[in-house]
Amino acid sequence: MDNFFELGPKSTEFSKSALDHVWHPCTQMRDHEQMPLVPIAKGDGVYLEDFDGRRYIDGISSWWVNLFGHVNPYINQQIANQLKKLEHVILAGFTHESVVTLSRRLVAKAKHLKPDSTQPLTRCFYADNGSSAVEVALKMSFHACRNRGQAGKTRFVSLSNSYHGETLGALAVSDVGLYKETYGPLLLEPIVMPTPDCYYRGELDWQSHSEQAFKPMEELLAEQHGSICAVIVEPLVQCAGGMRMYHPKYLQLLRAACDDYGVDLIADEIAVGFGRTGTFFACEQASIVPDFLCLSKGLTGGYLPLSVVMTTEKMYRHFYDRYETMKAFLHSHSYTGNPLACAAALATLDLFEQSDVLGQNKILAEQIKNGLAQLNDHPNISEVRQTGMIAAVEMVQHKNDRIPFPWQQRRGLIVYK
Ligand code: PMP
Repeated sequence: MDNFFELGPKSTEFSKSALDHVWHPCTQMRDHEQMPLVPIAKGDGVYLEDFDGRRYIDGISSWWVNLFGHVNPYINQQIANQLKKLEHVILAGFTHESVVTLSRRLVAKAKHLKPDSTQPLTRCFYADNGSSAVEVALKMSFHACRNRGQAGKTRFVSLSNSYHGETLGALAVSDVGLYKETYGPLLLEPIVMPTPDCYYRGELDWQSHSEQAFKPMEELLAEQHGSICAVIVEPLVQCAGGMRMYHPKYLQLLRAACDDYGVDLIADEIAVGFGRTGTFFACEQASIVPDFLCLSKGLTGGYLPLSVVMTTEKMYRHFYDRYETMKAFLHSHSYTGNPLACAAALATLDLFEQSDVLGQNKILAEQIKNGLAQLNDHPNISEVRQTGMIAAVEMVQHKNDRIPFPWQQRRGLIVYK
């Protein structure tokens, strides 16, 4: 691998010393023999700045978490206010103002999913990262089945090319081989159904392709619902799977089938929630309410680790009983509902309400679309696609046969450089 780019002297020095002890996530550390870490001294809006004053646009939103820029004055202030009152308290047996207010406001937001729903999301269970939220949803769905006497329901259904996180349960229901294959022997085995990914639509339009892709799912649920707890999906965009997109019709069909066959629907909106797809929640575009809605990333505007699983009153009631029945959901994380993270989340919701963020996104999304339009004719680009604020460019060896480049060439890394 040739040289990445030249950093200034202070950044070069820092970048080298930074490798002494820190083992970086999702990284072959040896790559950094040739490719320096980008050392960040400070942030400012869309910019990150290194130790020599060189500025970078944070186009990846710091792993898709940041919504309103770095060092946002309003979010800073709200966290500072919280810091003066309470930094943390155990959430079992204790409660605090910011978690109560946040839950009330999230429940109000979730009403937009389908205003006339008879099963709105009214209960919030907190964890501290996306993968943990997925673990919570999987465990809750399984446990609810047991609590209502359906102990034969032990299996989960996921989509090919899906991604739900790195902890063992979340990894098990994911389908990105790069992250999963090595750990295969450790993982529970979900039933994997074909993705509705519209990259493969051929001559069909997005909706027809997504409808067709639903057929095997319908058949599976009809035949095996007696053993299935839940189906888990990333609504509209399979993000880590290469920003692959599909039509909301698939979600409508899935919701209806889950209702018909008594199977839970887990919507993992960890990446697509909070305006990324053009609506506040991606599921709004299908006008459906899942049984579990997993949120994280943008939840705190990209400030602090926090996640939440929202669920229905009906689900909550499956666990609500005398202690001796042993139906309680005895799951916890030390930092569950951390007040500082909740304050950041409340500030984030304020910012959505103080201005027309989603309206402004429509204008920005149009600009992204126009900016990328020139790539449509590129001989090594098979598709430029977009859902709201998420845009993706598919690189291939040849445009017409859509054969990808061999992964060993690490083309993504070359583009990144
Ligand atoms: N689900 C989805 C859809 C994600 O994109 C991610 C993170 N990229 C996760 C779950 C896991 O979240 P975390 O990295 O916070 O564990």
